[in-house]
Amino acid sequence: MRIILMGPPGVGKGTEAVLLAEHYHIPHISTGNIFRELYKDNTDVGKIAMGYIDRGELVPNHITNEIVRHRLMEDDAKDGFLFDGYPRNIEQAKAFDHLLKEMGWKLNAVINIAAPDEVIIERIAGRRVCETCGAVYHIHNKKPKREGICDLDGGKLVQRADDMEETVQRRLRIYCDQTAPVIGYYKSKGSIVEIDGTKSIQYTDSTIKKVLGEMN
Ligand SMILES: [Zn+2]
Repeated sequence: MRIILMGPPGVGKGTEAVLLAEHYHIPHISTGNIFRELYKDNTDVGKIAMGYIDRGELVPNHITNEIVRHRLMEDDAKDGFLFDGYPRNIEQAKAFDHLLKEMGWKLNAVINIAAPDEVIIERIAGRRVCETCGAVYHIHNKKPKREGICDLDGGKLVQRADDMEETVQRRLRIYCDQTAPVIGYYKSKGSIVEIDGTKSIQYTDSTIKKVLGEMN
């Protein structure tokens, strides 16, 4: 199974990526994670890439595409893979097409988990985290027994800076600007599957597996 998984932050893409990778016994490939590993291993390319990431910039396409090429040559990717966070723009999508052709491989599906911004904002902005143990609550969906207090250790529940409404809105805007063209690109090729991400992760997971089963 060769899959690209797309979806805005907060839609449950990370969790779903892990479930799909386990189910189909394929590696879950995130270029962000590869760059972090290369950085830890003290490689030049890792240092260059993390420089961009730390400045909040996109790593140049030629570096990212080269990393992906190397990753696909590894043994565990020969029977399939799941990409998460790549391709991020049209140039990367075209380079990836080219690479797949070279390898003689075809994508099974590009899956886009979609949800309206309001749903995602409500989900993320309602999150509260225990200062002491990191347990995660939600002001509507997973209330603690006493407001503002962790059930486990009585710690104070706080909102992470990343979860503030304005931050979430900004991240969604950046995501949309970057990936809308990529989604359009795969749509024009007829290879995108849109999944309703407003329901539970169980719903998302079973719907994707059903769709993939019917397609392949
Ligand atoms: Zn706690």
